[in-house]
Amino acid sequence: MPLYKTEALILRTYKLGEADRIVVFLTRDRGKKRGVANGARRPRSRFAGALEPLTRVGVTYYEREQRDLVRLSYAESQCSPLLATRPDALSHVGYFAELMDEWAQEGDPNERLYRLGTSTLEALAEGVPTPPVARYFEYWLLRLQGVYPPHVACHRCGVALDGEPAGACLEPGGHVFTCHGCAGSAGREEGRGVTLSPEALRFLAASGRVAPQRLGTVPLLPRVDRELESVHQALMRLHLEKELRSTRVLRDLRR
Ligand SMILES: [Zn+2]
Repeated sequence: MPLYKTEALILRTYKLGEADRIVVFLTRDRGKKRGVANGARRPRSRFAGALEPLTRVGVTYYEREQRDLVRLSYAESQCSPLLATRPDALSHVGYFAELMDEWAQEGDPNERLYRLGTSTLEALAEGVPTPPVARYFEYWLLRLQGVYPPHVACHRCGVALDGEPAGACLEPGGHVFTCHGCAGSAGREEGRGVTLSPEALRFLAASGRVAPQRLGTVPLLPRVDRELESVHQALMRLHLEKELRSTRVLRDLRR
């Protein structure tokens, strides 16, 4: 049985039998894995504190021939989302982990996705406000999947969108942004709620340049946060073709 030692992010766990857990984790170098942590639900388990979603762990596991499930022999927390002090950070941790789980492919190495997850975790642990971290995370997740529509210039006439007072309109198919002039009355009607103001476009431009730990210095008004969130949710519904459980949980928390 080959033994692997690496760094990983915990994405989720399920109960298994009386005392074990199935752990879904994203390794830095070998993609997403699913494995059994024997005895993880016992009080003094060697996995204690290491299996919360979005924990960065040092992990050792065995791969077994002809078996989908690996066997975890060791996991130690290196950075925990429980370090985050902002109350809304913890409610978002499951959301970030669920999105990564949805998009990561089993056994398909994706170091950029791994880096996005770890830098998001570090930003939360360092106390960066949660809304910009969440919008940054969604933006980069969609970009890494190649589905974030180009947002610098109008897809039809080429005008710079951040210079347009009315901002950018997401076309109903969700593949391109246009200026309001090109969106036309039909586009405006259907695209209501999926426009980005110049401030939102500037936040995206900054997100392309800075690490999430520095997002505290990038302005994000509550109104702009809501615009970005509704565009990102529309894009994720379109590309995931479903609504995530954690998205519903976050919405209910806000009510
Ligand atoms: Zn245009």
